[in-house]
Amino acid sequence: MDGFPLPLQVVFAFLLGSLLGSFLNVVIYRLPAGLSVVRPRSRCPRCGQVLSPLELIPIVSWVVQRGRCRSCQAPISPRYPLVEALTAMLFSLAALWRPALPELLFIWAFIALLIALSFIDIDTQTLPNSLNFGGIFLGMLGALLLGFPLPWPEALEGGLLGAGLVALLAGYGGLLYNRLKDSPREGPFGVHLVHLAAMVGAWGGLLGTVGGVWLGSLGLVVGLLNASLNARLGRVLALPDALTLGLAALAPLAALGLGLSPLESLRGLLLSAGGLALAGMFYWWLRNPSDKVDLEAEAQSASGYVSVMGYGDVVLAGFLGVWLGWAQLLLALFVAVLAGAVVGLVRQRLGGNNQIPFGPYLALGGLVAFFWGETLVRWYLGYIGLA
Ligand SMILES: [Zn+2]
Repeated sequence: MDGFPLPLQVVFAFLLGSLLGSFLNVVIYRLPAGLSVVRPRSRCPRCGQVLSPLELIPIVSWVVQRGRCRSCQAPISPRYPLVEALTAMLFSLAALWRPALPELLFIWAFIALLIALSFIDIDTQTLPNSLNFGGIFLGMLGALLLGFPLPWPEALEGGLLGAGLVALLAGYGGLLYNRLKDSPREGPFGVHLVHLAAMVGAWGGLLGTVGGVWLGSLGLVVGLLNASLNARLGRVLALPDALTLGLAALAPLAALGLGLSPLESLRGLLLSAGGLALAGMFYWWLRNPSDKVDLEAEAQSASGYVSVMGYGDVVLAGFLGVWLGWAQLLLALFVAVLAGAVVGLVRQRLGGNNQIPFGPYLALGGLVAFFWGETLVRWYLGYIGLA
């Protein structure tokens, strides 16, 4: 869009964003319901009247109709124009940065995926694999073709470390919250193997700093072997979480005790755990490619074990890591936790009790880090007197 003056580009981005936001409303509603996102045409959910082209005009039609269906006067949720306006504003913001067109298309896709993921998570407490892995593949594709958003080695590392970090937060959090009780065993490719990979990766990374060959990714190999063994045997061989996660945490401490750098041990731990978590989720996605959410089945499968964070968040962290890189991903997580704490406190004051899942906060943190990450880091370094 380099040939056009900037105000025109921003207006175009706003219009395109509002149209895409209108499509995102359809995705948010239909994907978890297991319906096609392209057919049939949009209808009023109460009277079934097919919406006319005029009624499909983003934002404007809702305002003109004063938030009601033209046929049956049923109220239409303000969520629809909200999603359209949000998409339009973020698309304009991206255009204001004046990236080249291929890059701009990638940024718009990043925004659209995060908006869809956030609202689906709010509605269903799940993050669809198709959107999460779509973000990972798109980020890696851009990295390989354009070196954008990052050169591919940084994108890959960011994705693995990001998924590994959130997988371990889920692992240690679950272990503490459930008072060292073992998590349910899912065969052949369950959470236990992520914790095994973390343990082997942590000690491999440590031994690699002694022996010279980096062995931090060994955890990924061992985890995959364990998974294929489980599949062949038809039962689940797994070490208890308390053992694997306990030994994983000991490795960086041992490095400190031996006068070695704990960082290589931590790197092996996160890379192995992240790699295995993403491989495992990819395996389950291939086994069950539908994004349909069966809320009753989810509730019934509860075994008394409370997971503090879902593996959808793990894959989303991998998605963000691919796009942001490791350092900016940490900033995104920080913003997510901060925003979650602030909103949690406000809602407590107001007496709200229905929980907001973590996905929307992660998406918010991801967008803040993507657009303002470098500015924020520079400001912070200046603030503490380092730059
Ligand atoms: Zn109607």
